[in-house]
Amino acid sequence: MPTPPVTRFAPSPTGRLHLGHALAAKVAHDLARNGGGTFLLRHEDIDTNRSRPEYLTGIEDDLRWLGLNWDGVPLLQSTRTLAYEAALAQLTHREMVYPCFCTRREIIEETSRIGGAPHGPEGPVYPGTCKTLTKSQREERLFIGTPHSWRLDSTLATQTTGHLTFSDLIHGTHPVDPDLLGDVILARKDIGTAYHLAVVVDDAFQKITHVTRGEDLLPSTHVHRILQALLSFPEPLYLHHRLLLDDQGKRLAKRHDSFSISTLRQSGFPPDEIWRRCR
Ligand code: GLU
Repeated sequence: MPTPPVTRFAPSPTGRLHLGHALAAKVAHDLARNGGGTFLLRHEDIDTNRSRPEYLTGIEDDLRWLGLNWDGVPLLQSTRTLAYEAALAQLTHREMVYPCFCTRREIIEETSRIGGAPHGPEGPVYPGTCKTLTKSQREERLFIGTPHSWRLDSTLATQTTGHLTFSDLIHGTHPVDPDLLGDVILARKDIGTAYHLAVVVDDAFQKITHVTRGEDLLPSTHVHRILQALLSFPEPLYLHHRLLLDDQGKRLAKRHDSFSISTLRQSGFPPDEIWRRCR
């Protein structure tokens, strides 16, 4: 008997749910329910500048209306700061991360100075300016309190983990490419953590067996596998599903109000109409 799947829907409460989110939630929900497993809800509200309690409540209302009921109490990432700090401390101790003092402008300038950095799916890959600082240069800047983020040293990290892969139920097995996103930020200057670290820590904490999400996050999975290996977390299976597009062929975003679940709901459409539009 295979173990029952544990899945999650992990929205960021920075806007209202749209059709794309409904599809993402349904994929996670159905995978869990069809396998007699557990469907969890996690609010990814680490970005305190952009998250709003009314969006969080709206997400839960929309999910209930759609009939996508989750198990247990939703996890709020804003309550998990200590866990992210502990994971970052572990990586810092093992020198798998380095402090980055660059401003956005400096990164853009450095990128154009070196004739453009390789362009990852999240924009230009970090050119590595702060990676070359000496230990004493780093310590001096940290000592005087220069604002800094922490970046994954993807070179050292993959030397430590060796060759990795991940398996996707739709896309098959992928070799992990550490250069795809490069030295990503694991702790932002302003909030002390970041998406990649928080998601990996919480997927392990919630014992997620199947990570389901849109294809736009496939590149992130390369980073997530590296972090899972470094932090000795179990390897989940993945399912990156297709994205819903607007009339211009662009990915739905929170600004597309006409696709928001609450707008459609208030216009009198039944949940079945939502699922029809998700096809
Ligand atoms: N919070 C992310 C989002 O809303 C999804 C994270 C994930 O599924 O890994 O795009």
